[in-house]
Amino acid sequence: MTAIIDGDAVASDVRDGLGDAIDALADAGQTPALATVLMSDDPASETYVSMKQDDCEEVGIEAIDIEIDPDAPAAELYDTIDDLNADDDVNGILVQMPVPDHVDDREVLRRIDPEKDVDGFHPENVGRLVAGNARYKPCTPHGIQKLLAHAGVETEGADAVVVGRSDIVGKPMANLLMQKAAGGNATVTVCHSRTEDLAAKTRGADIVIAAAGVPEMIDGSMLAEGATVIDVGVNRVDADNDKGYELVGDVDFESAREVAGAITPVPGGVGPMTRAMLLYNTVKATSRQTGVEVTLP
Ligand code: NDP
Repeated sequence: MTAIIDGDAVASDVRDGLGDAIDALADAGQTPALATVLMSDDPASETYVSMKQDDCEEVGIEAIDIEIDPDAPAAELYDTIDDLNADDDVNGILVQMPVPDHVDDREVLRRIDPEKDVDGFHPENVGRLVAGNARYKPCTPHGIQKLLAHAGVETEGADAVVVGRSDIVGKPMANLLMQKAAGGNATVTVCHSRTEDLAAKTRGADIVIAAAGVPEMIDGSMLAEGATVIDVGVNRVDADNDKGYELVGDVDFESAREVAGAITPVPGGVGPMTRAMLLYNTVKATSRQTGVEVTLP
């Protein structure tokens, strides 16, 4: 019987646990605050930011909404980040990517105070993660670690294949899985677009994390019997419905579930966890900055 790993349920548990931490902060007179900065008129980016703000408000985190005209000079974004860094009432800063071409996205990441970098993408935070001393784990791989733990999937000693090597998913995921720590101790193979015979790699894996952004590229024939399959992909494909499209993962769910021991659906798998872990990092940031100790879920 294949287990369907319910990301909505696990994310809800995380949010409940954060509610207790937020209450403890409130008792000490502290309200966590996350500033989201949007410099784009891309509808998908607008939707992501408004979902993040709604999530914050639902759990009692103040959402500070900053929008910058995409045609404004890069300096306007840099100055905004500097102001947010200096503002003691702001605990977390998230600049929605991608930023316009005339803005240096590496400079954006470097500019955010690492203590307020709740995405975990500042080079200092990336370095700390690799060194096994993470300050803020990036939301998607951290959420996947939580999903695996909730599903009772043992990473220690497991052969894990991560398909994708992006800075936001693949690389930090591989790093977390290889750490000598809880949720780690796996033997990790990282695959990408130049990997030869991907199927041979995935077939040898106890855990497959699919984060390539290619619709349904991993099917049941590429999996070992009983493998755990985590589908990170969110891909729009044409569909004969009102919207004209539907969202599918990087895994062909129907054939994969015939073989897998456990699998995440899309939607309802990794996506809700990514959102929950942003709240987690914001609460953690508030605790670190105010010195009010909380128990994190
Ligand atoms: P990127 O496009 O930045 O990276 C994709 C990676 O996949 C690259 O390393 C690329 O290789 C590799 N790749 C592409 N095609 C293949 C292939 N045919 N075989 C093997 N590897 C391949 O994507 P992201 O990491 O940002 O996102 C990946 C997916 O996850 C997307 O669908 C995205 O929408 C989704 N996503 C979902 C989130 C969630 O919360 N559910 C959060 C973040 C992302 P190379 O490096 O060689 O180009």
